[in-house]
Amino acid sequence: MGSALLALALGLQALAPVPKFDSGRAWEHLRQLVAIGPRPSGSPAIEQTRKYIKDQLALSGLTTVEQSWDDQTPLDKVHMVNLAVTIPGARKERIVIAGHYDTKLYRQFRFVGASDGGSSAAFLIEIARVLKSRKNPMTIELLFLDGEEARMPEWGGNDNTYGSRHYVEMAKRDGSLASLKAMLLVDMIGDRDLDIRRDTNSTPWLSNVIWEAARRQNLDDYFIADSTRIEDDHLPFLAAGIPSVDIIDLDYEAWHTAKDTLDAVSARSLQVVGDVVLASLPHIEAHLSKTLVLTGRRIVKRQSFRVLKAKSTLPRRKTLRHSMITTLSDGGH
Ligand SMILES: [Zn+2]
Repeated sequence: MGSALLALALGLQALAPVPKFDSGRAWEHLRQLVAIGPRPSGSPAIEQTRKYIKDQLALSGLTTVEQSWDDQTPLDKVHMVNLAVTIPGARKERIVIAGHYDTKLYRQFRFVGASDGGSSAAFLIEIARVLKSRKNPMTIELLFLDGEEARMPEWGGNDNTYGSRHYVEMAKRDGSLASLKAMLLVDMIGDRDLDIRRDTNSTPWLSNVIWEAARRQNLDDYFIADSTRIEDDHLPFLAAGIPSVDIIDLDYEAWHTAKDTLDAVSARSLQVVGDVVLASLPHIEAHLSKTLVLTGRRIVKRQSFRVLKAKSTLPRRKTLRHSMITTLSDGGH
């Protein structure tokens, strides 16, 4: 059953030519974002960043929906905005591909977040273009999250992941969480010395599918076998019961320093992640459609049982570089 569905999903993919992730385009987005300068939540620069993202998505024929609110941080009250783009698929059940676009607030130096905040946003703009022209069996939502970074110097308590927490809370309230079947998070994927470890907080089957896709493409030098534990925007989704995976390279020398600039990142790294995510997608869809088909069957059985019961007059019956990585991830990012 599983392999038949997978073959079907892969067969459908083979029929429809899927455009490739173009790291040249992603690089240009990254360059433009970095050129805006530091882009902390609530700043005029992040407003400019949103305009850039929305304009680029519009060029791909996509409409951006804003989710805005004011959040109280330990430092101040901050206006935050998540950006969401929906690409309808054959089913209404959806996969969210997310990343943050804010950069950490630093007053003592100029922090432009080429990998941390820039790479994820640039990646999402480009993958949106690719997925727009793909025949998607499930709906895909691209989600640009605000407020991932802690407002205070140290990562702690609720002073981080403002955007993802708000999104999940709202999705619970309006009932849209029910159609969310998986979440893929990208963060800090620009490192020119790319090494992405498995995150032990992530849902194992999703990690397996992604690392397996990397291995098939001979990209296992980048998606390595080590593991680490990461606190990031996937945690609120996991807490709400959504299978989620964080694709992140936190082993980054320039992390949260003035050196997180274009010199520390590469288009090649964006290409690697783009290729791996696109290669994993049919397998993720196959895994999810198996669950959806089974759920559908159970409903059909129950309905026919009711019909039988209604007709019957019978009485009712019951029926790592571990130490370094550990230190980094303990501090969040
Ligand atoms: Zn960060």
